[in-house]
Amino acid sequence: MAARWHACVDIGGTKVAVSLADATADPSGPPLLHHRLSEPTVKSGPPEALSLQVLRLIDAACAGAGGTGAQVAAVGVSSCGPFVKPQGLIELAAPNICAGLGARSAGQPNDWTSLPMQAPLEDAFPLVRIENDCLAALRAERRWGALQGLDHCAYVTWSTGIGTGLCVDGHLLQGKNGNAGHAGHMFVSDDESALCGCGNVGDVEALVSGSAIARRFGLDAATLMAAARAGDTLALQQVDALCRVLGRALYNLVVTLDLQRISIGGSVFLRQQDLLLPRLRAQITGRLASLTDGFELVAAGLGDSVADCAAAALVV
Ligand SMILES: [Zn+2]
Repeated sequence: MAARWHACVDIGGTKVAVSLADATADPSGPPLLHHRLSEPTVKSGPPEALSLQVLRLIDAACAGAGGTGAQVAAVGVSSCGPFVKPQGLIELAAPNICAGLGARSAGQPNDWTSLPMQAPLEDAFPLVRIENDCLAALRAERRWGALQGLDHCAYVTWSTGIGTGLCVDGHLLQGKNGNAGHAGHMFVSDDESALCGCGNVGDVEALVSGSAIARRFGLDAATLMAAARAGDTLALQQVDALCRVLGRALYNLVVTLDLQRISIGGSVFLRQQDLLLPRLRAQITGRLASLTDGFELVAAGLGDSVADCAAAALVV
């Protein structure tokens, strides 16, 4: 049967989304993704449950488009990490899915420590590429978004968690298990209340991520930002403090890697970029001018579609 599609899979701690891109589409522009299906991420059953969910969603998307999974030429999987490779093949060891790993997952109905993904997908499809979601988003932003033409750049997500994808000298940094860019887990504080899902106390993600905002301030990010916009002094101080932590982390990336530009996305940031962008920039601009002059911090060019385009960037 002739190959008709690339399957684009986005695996997060909250949901799994699958969409199709036509195998014959013009690769120069952002892909037109279609027959998108999304479900809450499976978190119970045997460790194979998540890969079975992905396989089922791909089949369902193909059926919706009037075909079968046999017409998929390649599968791109953009997934939350970290990854492990116990048999040389990628398995997911994400603390927000695998309750056997981390503190945030307490109460979830599994004792998973890692989930097979590369092996079951390669059994079903001729070509499979799995990559950390921020690295894949970085590819998409370099190809179709706000990082086009740049060899020294990064993508950062400010969402339920904090993640980065890093590019230096035109090379995407991968690391020994494809986990380069887990900069959200850099220690920056002695705050005993800042417990991250990874088990660390005092890392960036534990202080500023969407889940950290909910845990630390007792309200979700959108409510906090709305209060700050309305002139609530305490909320404004809290937003300033969040931007100070994340802005300094971004500054650290700029001076460590000598970056030209960072594009930032994620649900927390994208909904509030007019409030957050100037505050983040203020932590970078003017500091150590020999390294930061000319550097730009910008919103993700692909906006809300960056996650789906990330998976597509692996295979289209
Ligand atoms: Zn952490």
